Amino acid sequence: MAHRNTGAAPKTGRSKKSAKKPAARAVGPDMDSLGFQAMDSNVPGLSHVILQKLNMKSYDDYKSAMDGKKKGSDFGIRTYFDMFQKMEDTFKFCVECKKLPDALPDPKSLRRCKRCQNVYYCGVACQRANWPLHKKFCKKLKLVALDRLVEWLVFTGDIPFPTETWTKPVQDVKGWEDWFAMQGQLEEKLGAVLGGRYMTLLWANAGKPRPEEGELRESVKRLVTDFHSRPVTIGLGLRLFGIEPLAKPLTVHVVGASHVETLNTRATDYDELTRMFPGHQGMEVVMVGVDVVDGPIMRPPLAALGPRGRVYLSSYKGLYHDFWEGHVETQLAARPDLVVGFHPGFHACPDLLEGWLPTLLLLRDYRLPTLFTVYNEQELKASLQILAELETRVTGCAANPFASLRPEQVYSSPNKAPAYCSSHYIAFLGPAAAEAPRVGELEGDGGD
Ligand SMILES: [Zn+2]
Ligand SMILES: [Zn+2]
Repeated sequence: MAHRNTGAAPKTGRSKKSAKKPAARAVGPDMDSLGFQAMDSNVPGLSHVILQKLNMKSYDDYKSAMDGKKKGSDFGIRTYFDMFQKMEDTFKFCVECKKLPDALPDPKSLRRCKRCQNVYYCGVACQRANWPLHKKFCKKLKLVALDRLVEWLVFTGDIPFPTETWTKPVQDVKGWEDWFAMQGQLEEKLGAVLGGRYMTLLWANAGKPRPEEGELRESVKRLVTDFHSRPVTIGLGLRLFGIEPLAKPLTVHVVGASHVETLNTRATDYDELTRMFPGHQGMEVVMVGVDVVDGPIMRPPLAALGPRGRVYLSSYKGLYHDFWEGHVETQLAARPDLVVGFHPGFHACPDLLEGWLPTLLLLRDYRLPTLFTVYNEQELKASLQILAELETRVTGCAANPFASLRPEQVYSSPNKAPAYCSSHYIAFLGPAAAEAPRVGELEGDGGD
């Protein structure tokens, strides 16, 4: 149970990510803190409420909990009811006037929108004033609130359900609809999640009525796509660059990995890649980033090749260019066939770009096939512009057919279009002037 309880912790992490503060993707040690505090710019004091609800005194406590140094019980959570309440409490502020419960004469007067059961108001006046804007997002925010609760079943292990080896070639699977069509006995598998012990416990403790089975089923499906989106997007990257997993063992680096990729991540979480490429020669996925969290996949990258027909997850806590110098160049870790960055966020502000710059230049100058994902089209454009300024050769960019279908709200400012993880991708390879004779210089004599 202690382990399950930590399910409450990633909520704030995920919300933070959705808040478009690219804190979670940070490559410099101070960025995460900046992003966390930046929630206060929309709702003053919000980051303090989160710390308080988790019984933590400071951002450092929060951070060490995220790093896996605290057990669930240290959050002061004793029961399931407690856990769901504390999660919900972090969403309690008036979306119109931004007041937190403590700022109200009666903290209990905060009321939730009945339709979406997601946003709160300090009173009727604020609710009325907010409705013209909120009505545009209320329906979507209902799904957001539902998925936020059902996500707990990812931590209990009910989601995802066991998946099947892909029966179609990768290029013929055009998106999640095709993917679900390949899952035998899908209805039975969804039924097992819906009828499971934890789903029952969830609605007994969530403080919200259990939705209809149809709504719940769709929510479970969205969370299944959310879970598999990262490995399958890696598979998409391999296909885009014509890298053939059946021909040789592969190494993939996930650059800028954080607690979003690594908290509670199990060694089997990327096994969908094996279903995607049955008979592959072995794949290693190495999570590299300063915010990588301790856990089952915190084990050193392999110097030799990974086990044939299996996916091996490993981690390195630190900056990518340090990893490159200390491990790749010294052959302690294999050179990557593909580098993937989930929402690197370097477009967001000069500080983040500065943190990413050594990595971006390294990826460009060593001509590493790279795939980055972003949350929406706006971020896509901003990222493309930076890559153009850095004179990288962008080989493709588009909507990701394997984007997460789970909508996530902009945390402290919910009345906005929700974001979807890895909604778009950018593929790039080397410098814009592809014929420039750089590769020999860099790799040949080590630049001495
Ligand atoms: Zn208000
Ligand atoms: Zn609503």
